Amino acid sequence: MAPPTLDRMHREGEGQMTLVTPVVEFFVVVAFALAAVLLNTIDARGFLASATVGFAVMYGGGFSWFVIVAVFFSLGVVFTLYKYGYKRRLGSAQGKGGARNWPHILANGGLASIAAIWNIANPGIVPAVVFLGAVSTSAADTVATELGLLSHSQPMLITHPSHAVTPGTSGGVTPLGFVGAAFASLVIGIMALALGILPDPYLVLPVCLVGGVFGAAFDSLVGATVQRKGYCVVCLKPTEALRHCGEKTTATQGKWYIENNIVNVVSTVAGAAVAYATVLVLAPLF
Ligand SMILES: [Zn+2]
Repeated sequence: MAPPTLDRMHREGEGQMTLVTPVVEFFVVVAFALAAVLLNTIDARGFLASATVGFAVMYGGGFSWFVIVAVFFSLGVVFTLYKYGYKRRLGSAQGKGGARNWPHILANGGLASIAAIWNIANPGIVPAVVFLGAVSTSAADTVATELGLLSHSQPMLITHPSHAVTPGTSGGVTPLGFVGAAFASLVIGIMALALGILPDPYLVLPVCLVGGVFGAAFDSLVGATVQRKGYCVVCLKPTEALRHCGEKTTATQGKWYIENNIVNVVSTVAGAAVAYATVLVLAPLF
């Protein structure tokens, strides 16, 4: 049986659309965001950001899109907590037990939310591909970073593959990190295939794989070139963060305003654009 086209799915959905649906969706999203806070995967202020992203995705894209975001979120939690103690001794673990804050959530979920809202006005393949490219990029970047920290080989700067950097430095890449990026993108692709998010079921795998791996590599490229790097004025440790030990850090390299969350936003846009380019190239073959 041919998979339903996005057009038909949308028309079928309209008939069932009542006020009850968004209310139920709202409570499902709030329950998930609350569980995430209780499990310490997002901090308290991250609750509002997560609920906003979650509701935009659920309302605009439907339950299947929300499942994709939940899968990305779960991948992030699992790979952040995997060997967390070792990463903390390395000094490169995510702070606060891996709990993500609101700017991080909006940076990773912003384009996905915009695609979902776009899908309300113009449901079709373009917002779905932008959504998948953005989520694949965030998933690939998160897993590549967390897995790359565990690599036995020294990270090399993506722009100078002979130049070794300390683990956790933006722009540093490892073969294990690339495997992680491909794995995470494929998990998103397989879930999107199972949920029938694109009308051409198998097109979704290369779209997520190419978009996600390119987006994560682009993140490293920006990280190696223009991302802010500096040091803490209190403990004098090198850091890419805007604040450390409760004080503003001093920037020594890159553009002072291009910090990690800006890099994430730019990378999701790049991953989504390449995901769409993949559709243009491959769609005639499907
Ligand atoms: Zn410090």
